[in-house]
Amino acid sequence: MMKAPITSVPVHSSEEDHYVDDHILYRFLVDSLTEYAVFAVSPDGAVISWNSGAEKTFGYTKTEVLGRSFALIFTADDARAGEPENELASALTGRQTQHDRWHVRKDGSRFWGTNTVQPLHDAAGKLLGFTKLVRDATASHAALEELSDSEQQLRLLIESVSDYAIFSIKLDGTISSWNAGAEKVFGYSQLDVIGANFSVLFSADDIRAGIPSAELRRAAADGSARVERWLIRKDGSRILASGRLSELRRDVDGDMRGFVSIAHDITQNDAAAQDLRRRAQYDELTELPNRRTFYEHVQRAIALMKRRSAHMLAVLFIDLDHFKSVNDEFGHIIADGLLAVTARRLEQCVRSEDVVARIGGDEFAILLNGINGVADATDAAERIGIEMRQPATIDGRDVRATVSIGIALANRKYKKPEDILRDADTAMYAAKTDGRARASMYTPAMNNGSALNADLAADLHHAIEHAEFRVAYQPIVHLSDMRIVGFEALVRWQHPRRGLLTPGLFIPKAEETELIVSIDRWMLREAARQLATWQSRGIGSSLQMSVNVSSKEFSRDDFIGELQVIMRSTGLPPVSLRLEITESAIMERSERAMALIAAIRNLGIELHIDDFGTGYSSLSALQHMSVDALKIDASFVASIDSRKGTELVETVITLAHKLGLVAIAEGIETSDQLARLIELDCDFGQGFFLAAPLGAEEAGRLAIAGVCVPDA
Ligand code: C2E
Ligand code: MG
Ligand code: MG
Repeated sequence: MMKAPITSVPVHSSEEDHYVDDHILYRFLVDSLTEYAVFAVSPDGAVISWNSGAEKTFGYTKTEVLGRSFALIFTADDARAGEPENELASALTGRQTQHDRWHVRKDGSRFWGTNTVQPLHDAAGKLLGFTKLVRDATASHAALEELSDSEQQLRLLIESVSDYAIFSIKLDGTISSWNAGAEKVFGYSQLDVIGANFSVLFSADDIRAGIPSAELRRAAADGSARVERWLIRKDGSRILASGRLSELRRDVDGDMRGFVSIAHDITQNDAAAQDLRRRAQYDELTELPNRRTFYEHVQRAIALMKRRSAHMLAVLFIDLDHFKSVNDEFGHIIADGLLAVTARRLEQCVRSEDVVARIGGDEFAILLNGINGVADATDAAERIGIEMRQPATIDGRDVRATVSIGIALANRKYKKPEDILRDADTAMYAAKTDGRARASMYTPAMNNGSALNADLAADLHHAIEHAEFRVAYQPIVHLSDMRIVGFEALVRWQHPRRGLLTPGLFIPKAEETELIVSIDRWMLREAARQLATWQSRGIGSSLQMSVNVSSKEFSRDDFIGELQVIMRSTGLPPVSLRLEITESAIMERSERAMALIAAIRNLGIELHIDDFGTGYSSLSALQHMSVDALKIDASFVASIDSRKGTELVETVITLAHKLGLVAIAEGIETSDQLARLIELDCDFGQGFFLAAPLGAEEAGRLAIAGVCVPDA
């Protein structure tokens, strides 16, 4: 393929005799140009000369390249696109001789080269080949590119910084960019966090205290804020992050777009970190370990117990009785003093290997590590009880406070510290219920009580994911003939450890945490699906399903949309659905509430006011709200035996009828109550006397029967 090898370059000299000298000179010159790659190729692109600059620039020695196609210095993409041939062709036409492009070295690395190609003819005008001159211009090219696309460059730069977490936050707190450093520092990938609220980086306590939004506010107010704080990594470990949170503006006088956070991990740093760590582990007021640290101790003790079967431990949950009254009566300085005194007394009552911690306002916990038996735990509780009964003198005032104590003995079933603490808490509640100033030992039977615990929220999350909710259906009947007109869907929680829980035990917590929205939506879907299924089997085509809707759910912007989706996906006719809402949810009479109510009724869905009489409905509000029914709260029905009670119920029924609404009595428990309600012209009713809330199957059977037949 190598035709007419060219070993020389003609010089523009008319005298033949100068040729050789010039030729040598020229060669010498070209070879000394070490900063420039100068070489020649044959007409079909084979390398025929290669100077030392080319060796240096491309990394190939002369012997390596001679005879090979010069396409080898092109990128694979350019070579495939025919760029080597194009370069030569356009040089021939004289159209273009300058081709700046990426070139490839022998080692595969690239550089940006300015590149000039010239055709080479002999004296007779015959094409001998081409000369090429290439200079590495990467540095100047990069500078140019940087200028032309500095934002892009900056982004790349930021993305590649790996020791600093750099991320941006939108005005609403969601994370919109996340660099490699943030990945390294926090352990979350971009996929994990982009679109999530940046509060994921904060501890639950900080979130509760509103720290994330407070930081944004501070940055917005001052333009930028220095931040040093313990944050939480993806794996749950804590890091001390130090950095700056700055607001981000599009340009000098533009609007604020969001925030940029730059932080790095200083967990391992010096005294400041020690101090912060101490503050993160200990309670400042009592100087006792805090809840987190307590959990760590318990976790270690559990691990030890697993390894050594003889190792026994117990957790005491201690709550001051009537602490609120102490606060109210003596003020918070003395109340704080009481907490500090309690801390010292608790420490006196146990051995040095035990751990006393403050885990909440007036709540303490003790880990009794390595006890010999139950008696050790009850003895400790007794000592604490006696010690606490001594009056304490704080700021010259005598303060008395007793404690209620719950004891949980650890066994191998326990895996997490939270579980033991929860059971000790349950036992403490039992002690309170029994009259306070006493201790009680945890037994599984206590779980059926009303003891709430701190892990309920976590359990609730789990419950939603693991489909632990069930629906109970309570018939609603026409009081004049006991005909079943519909069911009320009531949520139940099949708790993995505590068994079946009624809503009173978890709805309040769910409302606190917004989880209620997920529960309500699931209930709506499930109840609608159930009635649609019955209807498709020819049962209950005239039945209606009542579903409770929390005010949290009711006030959501997407509530109407969700209703439409449910109606569409289940195929349930809207007239078959009724929503039960408490007075407070709709009595604000805001324009939004009015519009929402109108929208729901436009869909053809009825609205009932639940627990009517326990809230603050005003008559005029009721008139404007255009709802369909009032549900008379069970407490009124329970009082119907008294004269005053009868009058009250009668008033509500009359009111409903005057407003063109239907009255539904809740909680009918006796035949007498039923008889009185019928007398008072109440339209519908439900209650244990008629039928308890039932499982779907039983409810379905009752729907087929069509009537409720009370036993008595
Ligand atoms: P509610 O809407 O007033 O429901 C009626 C409650 O009275 C139910 O309690 C029912 O089991 C109970 N009950 C039925 N018959 C009698 C009776 O003869 N006597 C007495 N004393 N009570 C009777 P439950 O199931 O414990 O529900 C309690 C409350 O929890 C409900 O009160 C409702 O406000 C709320 N709830 C239930 N399910 C849901 C739900 O899916 N979402 C929301 N947001 N709240 C729900
Ligand atoms: Mg209800
Ligand atoms: Mg009710």
